[in-house]
Amino acid sequence: MDLVRLTAAAVLAVQDHQGTGLVVTYPPAAQVALDRITAVCLLEGLDTPASVPALLKLCRSHLSKWPISIPSDYTAPDTVLVDEKTGLPTHACIEWASSDPSSSRPVPTDELLRRLAVNCPSSATYEQCRDFLIDHPVVNQENMRTVHATPGGPATWKRVQQLYGPVAHAYARDGQCVRCSFCGCLAVTLRDKISRCESGVCPDFTARHEVPVAALRALPTEVRHSLSASGRVEREVRNACLAAGAHVELIRDVVDHLRITWPFGDVWLVVFSTSAEPALLARRFRHWTPHHATRVCVAVPGHIVDRRTDYRQVFERHRGPGSVELVRAELVTAGNHQTDGGEPRA
Ligand SMILES: [Zn+2]
Repeated sequence: MDLVRLTAAAVLAVQDHQGTGLVVTYPPAAQVALDRITAVCLLEGLDTPASVPALLKLCRSHLSKWPISIPSDYTAPDTVLVDEKTGLPTHACIEWASSDPSSSRPVPTDELLRRLAVNCPSSATYEQCRDFLIDHPVVNQENMRTVHATPGGPATWKRVQQLYGPVAHAYARDGQCVRCSFCGCLAVTLRDKISRCESGVCPDFTARHEVPVAALRALPTEVRHSLSASGRVEREVRNACLAAGAHVELIRDVVDHLRITWPFGDVWLVVFSTSAEPALLARRFRHWTPHHATRVCVAVPGHIVDRRTDYRQVFERHRGPGSVELVRAELVTAGNHQTDGGEPRA
């Protein structure tokens, strides 16, 4: 598993590498991944990727086609690390890169939010800043003008602006970028004039409004992927729960989650995710065991769960005993007595 994680990290490092000059160099992470995978292949008498470009080409193949053996729980039917058409790291690649078998290291988004919270004087301020990040994975001049015209906007921008950085060249075509018309993340235009969102979740689209790459600032790749989409799901669920009469709070802990107190007294702690990798997802939360709750859940949108027929079974195999349970995000709002299967909870 460590080889996949290292290779995924190498893909992200290459994407973010802003090399200049005529001499092609690769970031150290790429060479480390190549060396490690080559060593394993040589020991086992397998074909080795001969170079960093060969390793990156391998990343466009399904994990089951790799020379090393990877357990099937980690190989969803469509899992590749690099999208064949866009050349961008996939959502799975980003999950792999930020995974940690020991769960001892926070994922980049949790770490970024932790640092943001330290700089906020109150929970309300933190939530305003966090909402801004959810709504703006990428910002342009117009976004900044808008936020400065909003009450409290300048103070929010002052706290979050350092979290944004330049957009990687991989997203630019002739110096121009396209943003997803659904979620605002970065997108890439394919040869047939269709644009594809980097998230891998949004539908392809044709409407294009190109902007110079230098005019955009973006959150780190892992944060764009994990915070924006799951944050919007969290907001929908929160609003529905409030409409149902529940009391809802955002709780800062090892990971941000909602504490939902239903009118009849049950307390749910719910963290939201759009992970397509149930084994990695379960392992991320296997040591998260908060107290004083009726249920502790990780909520994933149903359309993502349904992409893989054994999503729930894989999650169950990798979660720790007595820890977080999996629930479809829609059921948090619709049936506070229902399990994932839609049947009454015992
Ligand atoms: Zn999108």
